[in-house]
Amino acid sequence: MGEEQEQLGWAFETLAIHAGQEPDAASGAVVPPISLSTTFAQSEVGVHKGYEYSRSGNPTRTAMESQIASLEAARHGLAFASGLAAEDNVMRLLKQGQRVLLGNDAYGGTFRLISKVWSPLGFPWTAIDLSDLDQVVANWPEDTGLVWLESPTNPLLTCFDIEAIAEIAHARGALVVVDNTFATPYLQQPITLGADITLHSATKYLGGHSDVVGGFLAVDTDELAERLRFTQNAAGAVPSPFDCYLVLRGVKTLGIRMDRHCQNARAIVDLLAAHPTIERVLYPQLPDHPGHAAAAKQMRDYGGMVSFTVKGGEAAARRIAAGTELFTLAESLGAVESLIEHPGAMTHAAAAGSPLEVPNNLVRLSVGIEHSSDLVADLAQALERG
Ligand code: PLP
Repeated sequence: MGEEQEQLGWAFETLAIHAGQEPDAASGAVVPPISLSTTFAQSEVGVHKGYEYSRSGNPTRTAMESQIASLEAARHGLAFASGLAAEDNVMRLLKQGQRVLLGNDAYGGTFRLISKVWSPLGFPWTAIDLSDLDQVVANWPEDTGLVWLESPTNPLLTCFDIEAIAEIAHARGALVVVDNTFATPYLQQPITLGADITLHSATKYLGGHSDVVGGFLAVDTDELAERLRFTQNAAGAVPSPFDCYLVLRGVKTLGIRMDRHCQNARAIVDLLAAHPTIERVLYPQLPDHPGHAAAAKQMRDYGGMVSFTVKGGEAAARRIAAGTELFTLAESLGAVESLIEHPGAMTHAAAAGSPLEVPNNLVRLSVGIEHSSDLVADLAQALERG
């Protein structure tokens, strides 16, 4: 974002449409052009207009990085080829022997990256219940270099007090990364709560239309930005200009999409809460939900993800997941269309047998922005048949 825009103090919805997106200087194009060029002319050796080679930097990527960084209230944004590529770059901040303190509920792929890729290289991890702050302090491993948390978590939607955890971590010399994929910057800005790094699978709500895989990191300090930019270029897991354009376009409507996701999620929660086949509804707005107080404190609203366990066990959960028509049975989340899945066998299969294993009677919904009455009717018929 240009300094001028920052000074204007624009609101979220305005930044989403204008930050990093001034009309193109050469043509006046209102939409940032998709710059496919891999290389950029130099007038003398080392003298250029800010771009040399597209892995190191690309104008379409810069537009999208500025746009999302401004929404996260961060001074720097870095785009990656996937959420996991962004995560891999965060891990490269650590020195061998430094430990990752991981919340005990997280995306299965994150757990796989930390436990199966980085741990064998000498980067230990411990899973911990980050909601019990006294226990976190009492059991703090001395070698912790990084606290890694999702809030709300995938798939149990537990919320953690980001401000309190950042205070504990910083007093002990550790960095804090918050995976903000489920909340999005519209609902929660971890940097303003003290996190060092905000992480996204841009594949989800940021892209918003199930048509692009991407990752994103937002940081506020020049020092972290410089280190992460170095590995972004040196390891090279960058998104294509077209992917950057798709994310940038998706983000323009993030605010209004999130409002509808939240509204529809509430209609689904009402159905589930009153249904006799449901054992437990997991949604951060519910007063008895783990971390409800933290969510109420740090989030604008409670999001579009809803999980639930069923009384009929795994077989019933699988039947319900396969029994909807509008909710498509598929992995991923955060797009305009509603999705349903069985985390134990799908997104979180990699966590089986670990402290992050999920209940086998759990179903996860990504509630889309279709009309809520159609979604409620579809899920109701699947529950009846389940
Ligand atoms: N973080 C969360 C919370 C996710 O749900 C996912 C993917 O589902 C990721 C990170 C990984 O992102 P990607 O699939 O874009 O690599």
